[in-house]
Amino acid sequence: MTSPILRLKRGRDHARVHPWIFKGDVADVSDGVESGAAVTVLDSAGRIVGRGLFNPRPALCCRLLTWADEAIDAEFWRRRLAAAVEARSGRAGAMRLVWSEADTLAGLVIDRYGPVAVLQAVTLGMARRRAELAAVLREVIGDVAVYCADDPTAATLEGFEPAAGWLDAPGPPSVVVEEGVGRLLVRIGAGHKTGLYLDQADNRTRVGALGAGHAVLDVFAYTAGFACQALLGGATSAVCIESSKDALAGAVDNLALNGVAARAEVRDANAFDELRRLERAGQRFGLVVLDPPPFARARGALEAALRGYKEINLRAIRLLEPGGILVTFSCSHHVSPDAFEATVRDAAGDAGVRLRLLAPLTQSADHPVLLTVPETRYLKGLMLEKVP
Ligand code: SAH
Repeated sequence: MTSPILRLKRGRDHARVHPWIFKGDVADVSDGVESGAAVTVLDSAGRIVGRGLFNPRPALCCRLLTWADEAIDAEFWRRRLAAAVEARSGRAGAMRLVWSEADTLAGLVIDRYGPVAVLQAVTLGMARRRAELAAVLREVIGDVAVYCADDPTAATLEGFEPAAGWLDAPGPPSVVVEEGVGRLLVRIGAGHKTGLYLDQADNRTRVGALGAGHAVLDVFAYTAGFACQALLGGATSAVCIESSKDALAGAVDNLALNGVAARAEVRDANAFDELRRLERAGQRFGLVVLDPPPFARARGALEAALRGYKEINLRAIRLLEPGGILVTFSCSHHVSPDAFEATVRDAAGDAGVRLRLLAPLTQSADHPVLLTVPETRYLKGLMLEKVP
């Protein structure tokens, strides 16, 4: 097989289980290799390590797709996509079909919302192959409308034009998907992420039942997924706090779609301010969900992030009724599970409240974690009960 060669430096070529190759790892690359091309990665002794897609622009210049001597061709994509789909068989509703490194398809994310697949290219190599990947995807899962929703930050780093639109034939502008006992409206191309925070789907359905008979507070609600599940599970009322206009509109739609709008209130507010206001007003809740955006997007922001997590958790803990449940998350990869737990423990200490750990929580099963790629584990949650 002739493909351009990327040779690793001695000392950077130990048996690799992590797919990322940085410029500093590279001894040399074949002349004239095209950006986005598949390269054969060799160790310093000339032995094959695997194959991946190369881009000379970012520091992370190659992501391995295979550790075998196999061609990266249509047949390869078919095998990989079929394996990713097979791994999720039995899972219902909207789902992440392909999750980049975790599915050994580094640089590619595909989410399915019924008749629509949303394809996100994270690398130039994947962006160049959108049409080929969509064709293979359709062979594997049947005909779907493909919407491209690249991450602009990744596109800038990698040097490609981020796509935002239908790949070819347009699909429906919105789709209703089932989630647990509820339904959620997804506006294709309009929401955060690829439409829904699919990584929280398992937690939304699990947490829903905890609100039965109680007032619920859904903080950082996005389109009110947690509140919908809790209200369908028998919560007496729900207050949803969210600051993005589009998300608020989505929350109103979802509460109506599930027939629970009469028991819900959607508040356009900054969560930090609103938590303080609720505390002053003496309101109490039997279930509080805290699902903030990543406060630490980089390692350097860690300290400030932890202060933010502590602040919201302290406020939330004070809003709990005796026996009330707090479900609190951090989706920042840079915040370790231990650091997150210590922060919530500090907040409980300041509030003078004892919390029982009912369950640790993590990302939905369609976002699998590779032990050898720590970056695939990012969502941590704690389900806690206020002990009398
Ligand atoms: N719980 C949601 C996902 C939440 S993502 C779900 O399961 O679908 C985090 C949300 O917090 C985003 O919708 C974002 O718009 C919102 N947000 C970010 N900063 C905020 C702030 N200061 N106050 C209120 N909402 C905020």
